[in-house]
Amino acid sequence: MMQPLPTTFLHVDMDAFFASVEQRDHPELRGKPVVVGAPPGQRGVVAAASYEARKYGIHSAMPSSTAQQKCPHAVFVAHNMARYKEASRQIMRIFESYTPLVQPLSIDEAFLDVTGARRLFGTGQAIAEKIRRDILEQTELTASVGVAPNMFLAKIASDMNKPDSLTMVPFEQKAIEQFLAPLPIGRMWGVGKVTQKKLLSLGLSTIGQLQQCDFPTLERAVGPRAARGFSQLAHGIDERSIETDSEEKSISNETTFAEDLTDREQIEAVYKRLIDKVGARLRKAGYFASTVHLKIRWSDFSTITRQTRFSIPCADDVSLREAGMALLEEHLRRRPVRLIGFGVSGLSETDQPPAQQLNLFEAPDTAEHEKRNRLSRAADGIKEKYGGQSLRRGSDLN
Ligand SMILES: [Mg+2]
Repeated sequence: MMQPLPTTFLHVDMDAFFASVEQRDHPELRGKPVVVGAPPGQRGVVAAASYEARKYGIHSAMPSSTAQQKCPHAVFVAHNMARYKEASRQIMRIFESYTPLVQPLSIDEAFLDVTGARRLFGTGQAIAEKIRRDILEQTELTASVGVAPNMFLAKIASDMNKPDSLTMVPFEQKAIEQFLAPLPIGRMWGVGKVTQKKLLSLGLSTIGQLQQCDFPTLERAVGPRAARGFSQLAHGIDERSIETDSEEKSISNETTFAEDLTDREQIEAVYKRLIDKVGARLRKAGYFASTVHLKIRWSDFSTITRQTRFSIPCADDVSLREAGMALLEEHLRRRPVRLIGFGVSGLSETDQPPAQQLNLFEAPDTAEHEKRNRLSRAADGIKEKYGGQSLRRGSDLN
Protein backbone atom coordinates (compact mmCIF):
# COMPACT_ATOMS: atom_id res chain seq x y z
CA MET A 1 0.00 0.00 0.00
CA MET A 2 1.18 3.51 -0.74
CA GLN A 3 2.01 5.66 2.26
CA PRO A 4 0.10 8.96 2.30
CA LEU A 5 2.47 11.82 1.59
CA PRO A 6 2.63 14.79 3.96
CA THR A 7 0.70 17.79 2.66
CA THR A 8 3.32 20.05 1.09
CA PHE A 9 2.92 23.64 0.00
CA LEU A 10 5.27 25.97 -1.81
CA HIS A 11 5.09 29.73 -1.88
CA VAL A 12 7.03 31.05 -4.85
CA ASP A 13 7.80 34.76 -4.98
CA MET A 14 9.86 36.45 -7.69
CA ASP A 15 12.68 38.69 -6.48
CA ALA A 16 12.17 42.45 -7.06
CA PHE A 17 10.10 41.37 -10.04
CA PHE A 18 9.55 44.54 -12.12
CA ALA A 19 13.06 45.84 -11.44
CA SER A 20 14.61 42.45 -12.26
CA VAL A 21 12.76 42.27 -15.59
CA GLU A 22 14.11 45.75 -16.45
CA GLN A 23 17.66 44.75 -15.51
CA ARG A 24 17.34 41.59 -17.59
CA ASP A 25 16.02 43.48 -20.63
CA HIS A 26 18.47 46.40 -20.26
CA PRO A 27 21.92 45.05 -19.33
CA GLU A 28 23.21 48.60 -18.73
CA LEU A 29 20.92 48.70 -15.65
CA ARG A 30 22.44 45.61 -14.03
CA GLY A 31 24.18 46.30 -10.74
CA LYS A 32 22.59 49.74 -10.53
CA PRO A 33 19.95 51.14 -8.16
CA VAL A 34 16.90 50.87 -10.43
CA VAL A 35 13.54 52.36 -9.54
CA VAL A 36 10.51 51.38 -11.60
CA GLY A 37 7.83 54.05 -11.43
CA ALA A 38 7.13 57.70 -12.05
CA PRO A 39 10.13 60.00 -12.42
CA PRO A 40 10.65 62.20 -9.31
CA GLY A 41 9.28 65.35 -10.98
CA GLN A 42 5.86 63.82 -11.49
CA ARG A 43 4.58 63.27 -7.94
CA GLY A 44 4.26 59.55 -8.56
CA VAL A 45 5.33 56.63 -6.42
CA VAL A 46 7.83 53.79 -6.67
CA ALA A 47 6.31 50.62 -8.16
CA ALA A 48 9.40 48.49 -7.53
CA ALA A 49 13.03 48.90 -6.54
CA SER A 50 16.03 46.73 -7.39
CA TYR A 51 18.03 45.26 -4.51
CA GLU A 52 20.75 47.86 -5.19
CA ALA A 53 18.14 50.60 -4.66
CA ARG A 54 16.70 48.93 -1.55
CA LYS A 55 20.09 49.33 0.14
CA TYR A 56 19.36 53.06 0.19
CA GLY A 57 16.03 52.50 1.94
CA ILE A 58 13.93 52.77 -1.21
CA HIS A 59 10.82 50.63 -1.27
CA SER A 60 7.62 50.36 -3.28
CA ALA A 61 4.78 52.85 -2.66
CA MET A 62 7.35 55.47 -1.55
CA PRO A 63 7.01 58.85 -3.35
CA SER A 64 9.52 58.99 -6.20
CA SER A 65 10.81 62.34 -4.91
CA THR A 66 11.71 60.72 -1.55
CA ALA A 67 13.42 57.88 -3.40
CA GLN A 68 15.54 60.36 -5.30
CA GLN A 69 16.54 62.15 -2.09
CA LYS A 70 17.63 58.83 -0.60
CA CYS A 71 19.64 57.88 -3.67
CA PRO A 72 20.36 60.77 -6.06
CA HIS A 73 21.99 58.49 -8.64
CA ALA A 74 19.06 56.04 -8.79
CA VAL A 75 17.93 55.25 -12.33
CA PHE A 76 14.19 55.77 -12.83
CA VAL A 77 12.50 53.70 -15.54
CA ALA A 78 8.88 53.69 -16.66
CA HIS A 79 7.07 50.42 -16.09
CA ASN A 80 6.49 48.07 -18.99
CA MET A 81 3.52 45.99 -17.88
CA ALA A 82 3.37 43.93 -21.07
CA ARG A 83 6.86 42.54 -20.37
CA TYR A 84 6.01 41.76 -16.73
CA LYS A 85 2.82 40.00 -17.76
CA GLU A 86 4.71 37.92 -20.29
CA ALA A 87 7.19 36.78 -17.64
CA SER A 88 4.29 36.16 -15.26
CA ARG A 89 2.58 33.87 -17.78
CA GLN A 90 5.84 31.95 -18.20
CA ILE A 91 6.25 31.32 -14.48
CA MET A 92 2.58 30.38 -13.99
CA ARG A 93 2.97 27.81 -16.79
CA ILE A 94 6.01 26.38 -15.03
CA PHE A 95 3.97 26.00 -11.82
CA GLU A 96 1.18 24.25 -13.72
CA SER A 97 3.66 21.78 -15.18
CA TYR A 98 4.15 20.48 -11.62
CA THR A 99 0.65 20.73 -10.14
CA PRO A 100 -2.85 21.86 -11.11
CA LEU A 101 -3.28 23.28 -7.59
CA VAL A 102 -1.87 26.77 -8.15
CA GLN A 103 -3.26 29.86 -6.47
CA PRO A 104 -1.69 33.08 -7.78
CA LEU A 105 -1.60 35.89 -5.22
CA SER A 106 -0.36 38.56 -7.59
CA ILE A 107 1.51 38.89 -10.87
CA ASP A 108 4.72 37.46 -9.38
CA GLU A 109 3.80 35.07 -6.58
CA ALA A 110 1.69 31.98 -6.04
CA PHE A 111 0.90 29.16 -3.65
CA LEU A 112 1.31 25.61 -4.96
CA ASP A 113 0.01 22.44 -3.35
CA VAL A 114 2.61 19.89 -4.49
CA THR A 115 1.46 16.99 -2.30
CA GLY A 116 0.35 14.91 -5.30
CA ALA A 117 3.32 16.00 -7.40
CA ARG A 118 5.69 14.36 -4.91
CA ARG A 119 5.05 10.90 -6.34
CA LEU A 120 6.36 12.11 -9.68
CA PHE A 121 8.97 14.66 -8.78
CA GLY A 122 10.30 13.79 -5.32
CA THR A 123 10.37 15.78 -2.08
CA GLY A 124 9.02 19.30 -1.64
CA GLN A 125 12.60 20.52 -1.61
CA ALA A 126 13.38 18.72 -4.87
CA ILE A 127 10.29 20.24 -6.53
CA ALA A 128 11.20 23.71 -5.26
CA GLU A 129 14.72 23.33 -6.69
CA LYS A 130 13.36 22.18 -10.06
CA ILE A 131 10.92 25.10 -10.21
CA ARG A 132 13.63 27.63 -9.35
CA ARG A 133 15.86 26.14 -12.04
CA ASP A 134 13.05 26.17 -14.66
CA ILE A 135 12.28 29.80 -13.86
CA LEU A 136 15.93 30.81 -14.19
CA GLU A 137 16.38 28.90 -17.45
CA GLN A 138 13.18 30.12 -19.08
CA THR A 139 13.01 33.71 -17.84
CA GLU A 140 16.55 34.55 -16.64
CA LEU A 141 14.94 35.70 -13.38
CA THR A 142 15.33 34.46 -9.83
CA ALA A 143 12.63 33.39 -7.38
CA SER A 144 12.54 32.70 -3.66
CA VAL A 145 10.61 29.67 -2.50
CA GLY A 146 9.29 28.53 0.86
CA VAL A 147 8.48 24.84 1.42
CA ALA A 148 6.14 24.02 4.31
CA PRO A 149 3.26 21.89 5.56
CA ASN A 150 0.81 24.80 5.07
CA MET A 151 0.33 28.06 3.22
CA PHE A 152 0.98 30.41 6.14
CA LEU A 153 4.37 28.84 6.85
CA ALA A 154 5.34 28.63 3.18
CA LYS A 155 4.72 32.36 2.74
CA ILE A 156 6.78 33.27 5.79
CA ALA A 157 9.60 31.04 4.58
CA SER A 158 9.82 32.42 1.02
CA ASP A 159 10.50 35.87 2.47
CA MET A 160 13.14 34.88 5.03
CA ASN A 161 16.22 34.57 2.86
CA LYS A 162 15.43 36.67 -0.20
CA PRO A 163 16.67 36.99 -2.89
CA ASP A 164 17.36 33.77 -4.86
CA SER A 165 16.63 31.43 -1.97
CA LEU A 166 15.00 28.18 -0.95
CA THR A 167 13.81 27.95 2.66
CA MET A 168 12.53 24.76 4.27
CA VAL A 169 10.14 24.86 7.23
CA PRO A 170 10.23 21.82 9.53
CA PHE A 171 7.22 19.47 9.32
CA GLU A 172 7.19 18.42 12.98
CA GLN A 173 4.97 20.39 15.41
CA LYS A 174 7.57 21.18 18.09
CA ALA A 175 10.11 22.22 15.45
CA ILE A 176 7.52 24.40 13.71
CA GLU A 177 6.91 26.30 16.94
CA GLN A 178 10.65 26.78 17.42
CA PHE A 179 10.96 27.99 13.84
CA LEU A 180 8.26 30.63 14.41
CA ALA A 181 9.25 31.68 17.95
CA PRO A 182 11.90 34.32 17.17
CA LEU A 183 9.87 36.06 14.44
CA PRO A 184 8.18 39.41 15.15
CA ILE A 185 4.38 39.25 15.50
CA GLY A 186 4.03 41.59 12.51
CA ARG A 187 4.90 38.61 10.29
CA MET A 188 1.59 36.94 11.08
CA TRP A 189 -1.40 37.40 8.79
CA GLY A 190 -4.00 39.81 10.04
CA VAL A 191 -1.63 41.67 12.35
CA GLY A 192 -1.81 45.27 11.18
CA LYS A 193 -0.51 48.37 12.93
CA VAL A 194 -3.46 48.66 15.35
CA THR A 195 -3.37 45.00 16.39
CA GLN A 196 0.39 45.13 16.69
CA LYS A 197 0.07 48.00 19.17
CA LYS A 198 -2.47 46.07 21.23
CA LEU A 199 -0.25 43.00 21.31
CA LEU A 200 2.83 45.07 22.14
CA SER A 201 0.95 46.61 25.08
CA LEU A 202 0.60 43.05 26.42
CA GLY A 203 4.35 42.63 26.07
CA LEU A 204 4.00 40.43 22.99
CA SER A 205 6.54 41.30 20.32
CA THR A 206 7.52 37.87 19.02
CA ILE A 207 5.47 34.90 17.85
CA GLY A 208 7.15 32.86 20.62
CA GLN A 209 5.73 35.20 23.26
CA LEU A 210 2.32 34.86 21.65
CA GLN A 211 2.64 31.06 21.87
CA GLN A 212 3.10 31.43 25.64
CA CYS A 213 0.30 33.96 26.17
CA ASP A 214 -2.77 32.63 27.96
CA PHE A 215 -5.91 32.68 25.86
CA PRO A 216 -8.21 34.82 28.10
CA THR A 217 -5.65 37.66 28.11
CA LEU A 218 -5.36 37.54 24.35
CA GLU A 219 -9.13 37.35 23.98
CA ARG A 220 -9.62 40.48 26.11
CA ALA A 221 -7.14 42.37 23.97
CA VAL A 222 -8.27 41.47 20.45
CA GLY A 223 -11.65 39.71 20.79
CA PRO A 224 -12.48 35.99 20.57
CA ARG A 225 -12.30 35.58 16.80
CA ALA A 226 -8.91 37.23 16.31
CA ALA A 227 -7.56 35.57 19.46
CA ARG A 228 -8.41 32.12 18.09
CA GLY A 229 -6.88 32.97 14.72
CA PHE A 230 -3.67 34.40 16.17
CA SER A 231 -3.06 31.58 18.60
CA GLN A 232 -3.53 29.04 15.81
CA LEU A 233 -1.10 30.86 13.52
CA ALA A 234 1.37 31.33 16.38
CA HIS A 235 1.50 27.53 16.62
CA GLY A 236 1.88 27.26 12.86
CA ILE A 237 -1.62 25.90 12.29
CA ASP A 238 -3.32 26.88 9.03
CA GLU A 239 -6.02 24.64 7.55
CA ARG A 240 -6.65 26.51 4.31
CA SER A 241 -6.32 24.85 0.94
CA ILE A 242 -5.58 26.13 -2.54
CA GLU A 243 -8.40 27.91 -4.32
CA THR A 244 -8.11 27.57 -8.05
CA ASP A 245 -10.23 29.62 -10.39
CA SER A 246 -9.97 27.19 -13.28
CA GLU A 247 -13.55 26.05 -12.74
CA GLU A 248 -16.05 28.01 -14.76
CA LYS A 249 -18.43 29.32 -12.13
CA SER A 250 -20.53 31.51 -14.38
CA ILE A 251 -21.25 32.00 -18.06
CA SER A 252 -22.27 35.32 -19.54
CA ASN A 253 -22.48 37.34 -22.72
CA GLU A 254 -22.97 41.05 -23.19
CA THR A 255 -23.24 43.52 -26.04
CA THR A 256 -22.38 47.20 -26.14
CA PHE A 257 -24.47 49.01 -28.75
CA ALA A 258 -22.78 51.16 -31.36
CA GLU A 259 -25.33 53.83 -30.41
CA ASP A 260 -27.38 53.96 -27.24
CA LEU A 261 -30.73 52.24 -27.81
CA THR A 262 -34.16 53.20 -26.52
CA ASP A 263 -36.27 50.98 -28.79
CA ARG A 264 -37.61 48.20 -26.62
CA GLU A 265 -38.00 45.68 -29.43
CA GLN A 266 -34.46 46.18 -30.67
CA ILE A 267 -33.10 45.75 -27.15
CA GLU A 268 -35.19 42.63 -26.62
CA ALA A 269 -34.04 41.09 -29.89
CA VAL A 270 -30.38 41.48 -28.98
CA TYR A 271 -31.03 40.29 -25.44
CA LYS A 272 -32.80 37.11 -26.64
CA ARG A 273 -29.80 36.25 -28.80
CA LEU A 274 -27.53 36.68 -25.77
CA ILE A 275 -29.74 34.35 -23.74
CA ASP A 276 -29.59 31.71 -26.47
CA LYS A 277 -25.82 32.00 -26.77
CA VAL A 278 -25.38 31.61 -23.03
CA GLY A 279 -27.79 28.65 -23.06
CA ALA A 280 -25.81 26.91 -25.80
CA ARG A 281 -22.53 27.45 -23.92
CA LEU A 282 -24.13 26.21 -20.72
CA ARG A 283 -25.33 22.97 -22.32
CA LYS A 284 -22.06 22.47 -24.17
CA ALA A 285 -20.21 22.72 -20.85
CA GLY A 286 -22.63 20.15 -19.43
CA TYR A 287 -24.06 22.36 -16.71
CA PHE A 288 -27.40 23.42 -15.31
CA ALA A 289 -27.81 26.91 -13.86
CA SER A 290 -29.65 27.88 -10.72
CA THR A 291 -29.42 31.65 -11.16
CA VAL A 292 -29.83 33.97 -14.14
CA HIS A 293 -28.49 37.52 -14.31
CA LEU A 294 -29.45 40.62 -16.23
CA LYS A 295 -27.05 43.51 -16.67
CA ILE A 296 -28.02 46.89 -18.05
CA ARG A 297 -25.70 49.84 -18.51
CA TRP A 298 -27.53 53.09 -19.17
CA SER A 299 -26.19 55.88 -21.39
CA ASP A 300 -24.73 57.70 -18.36
CA PHE A 301 -22.65 54.54 -17.60
CA SER A 302 -24.59 53.75 -14.43
CA THR A 303 -25.09 49.99 -14.36
CA ILE A 304 -27.56 47.62 -12.74
CA THR A 305 -27.35 43.87 -12.33
CA ARG A 306 -30.42 41.92 -11.29
CA GLN A 307 -30.88 38.23 -10.73
CA THR A 308 -33.47 35.56 -10.16
CA ARG A 309 -33.31 31.90 -9.24
CA PHE A 310 -34.90 28.76 -10.58
CA SER A 311 -36.44 26.33 -8.15
CA ILE A 312 -34.62 23.53 -9.98
CA PRO A 313 -31.45 24.10 -12.03
CA CYS A 314 -32.22 24.63 -15.73
CA ALA A 315 -30.27 24.65 -18.97
CA ASP A 316 -32.99 24.78 -21.63
CA ASP A 317 -33.72 27.77 -23.85
CA VAL A 318 -37.37 28.13 -22.86
CA SER A 319 -36.70 28.37 -19.13
CA LEU A 320 -33.70 30.66 -19.61
CA ARG A 321 -35.74 32.94 -21.86
CA GLU A 322 -38.70 33.01 -19.50
CA ALA A 323 -36.53 33.93 -16.53
CA GLY A 324 -34.35 36.33 -18.51
CA MET A 325 -37.26 38.13 -20.14
CA ALA A 326 -39.08 38.44 -16.82
CA LEU A 327 -36.04 40.22 -15.42
CA LEU A 328 -35.83 42.54 -18.41
CA GLU A 329 -39.56 43.24 -18.24
CA GLU A 330 -39.20 44.27 -14.63
CA HIS A 331 -36.10 46.44 -14.92
CA LEU A 332 -35.97 47.98 -18.38
CA ARG A 333 -36.85 51.69 -18.26
CA ARG A 334 -37.49 54.33 -20.86
CA ARG A 335 -33.85 55.35 -20.72
CA PRO A 336 -31.21 54.97 -23.41
CA VAL A 337 -29.34 51.69 -22.99
CA ARG A 338 -25.64 51.43 -23.71
CA LEU A 339 -25.00 47.78 -22.88
CA ILE A 340 -27.11 44.72 -22.24
CA GLY A 341 -25.90 41.46 -20.77
CA PHE A 342 -27.19 38.08 -19.69
CA GLY A 343 -25.50 35.45 -17.56
CA VAL A 344 -26.01 32.34 -15.50
CA SER A 345 -24.33 31.13 -12.31
CA GLY A 346 -24.77 28.56 -9.57
CA LEU A 347 -23.69 25.91 -12.06
CA SER A 348 -24.09 22.24 -11.30
CA GLU A 349 -23.67 19.05 -13.24
CA THR A 350 -27.14 17.81 -12.43
CA ASP A 351 -30.57 19.40 -12.43
CA GLN A 352 -31.26 18.15 -8.93
CA PRO A 353 -32.32 21.05 -6.75
CA PRO A 354 -29.85 22.09 -4.03
CA ALA A 355 -30.84 21.02 -0.53
CA GLN A 356 -31.62 24.56 0.43
CA GLN A 357 -33.33 26.57 -2.23
CA LEU A 358 -34.94 29.92 -2.71
CA ASN A 359 -38.08 29.45 -4.68
CA LEU A 360 -38.18 32.79 -6.43
CA PHE A 361 -38.77 31.87 -10.00
CA GLU A 362 -40.80 28.79 -10.74
CA ALA A 363 -39.34 26.24 -13.09
CA PRO A 364 -41.70 24.05 -15.12
CA ASP A 365 -42.97 20.76 -13.74
CA THR A 366 -40.77 17.71 -14.19
CA ALA A 367 -42.27 16.36 -17.43
CA GLU A 368 -42.20 19.78 -19.05
CA HIS A 369 -38.66 20.30 -17.73
CA GLU A 370 -37.51 17.05 -19.36
CA LYS A 371 -39.17 17.96 -22.65
CA ARG A 372 -37.55 21.40 -22.69
CA ASN A 373 -34.11 19.88 -22.03
CA ARG A 374 -34.53 17.40 -24.91
CA LEU A 375 -35.70 20.10 -27.32
CA SER A 376 -32.83 22.44 -26.50
CA ARG A 377 -30.24 19.72 -26.97
CA ALA A 378 -31.79 18.65 -30.26
CA ALA A 379 -31.73 22.27 -31.42
CA ASP A 380 -28.04 22.59 -30.42
CA GLY A 381 -27.28 19.56 -32.59
CA ILE A 382 -28.99 21.05 -35.61
CA LYS A 383 -27.31 24.44 -35.13
CA GLU A 384 -23.92 22.81 -34.82
CA LYS A 385 -24.49 20.89 -38.03
CA TYR A 386 -26.08 23.55 -40.19
CA GLY A 387 -25.03 26.84 -38.59
CA GLY A 388 -26.71 29.16 -36.13
CA GLN A 389 -29.21 30.72 -38.55
CA SER A 390 -30.87 27.48 -39.58
CA LEU A 391 -33.23 27.23 -36.66
CA ARG A 392 -35.23 30.00 -35.11
CA ARG A 393 -38.11 29.96 -32.80
CA GLY A 394 -41.38 31.13 -34.39
CA SER A 395 -41.54 34.21 -32.17
CA ASP A 396 -38.26 35.52 -33.58
CA LEU A 397 -39.75 35.80 -37.04
CA ASN A 398 -42.48 38.20 -36.07
MG1 LIG B 1 7.86 39.43 -5.41
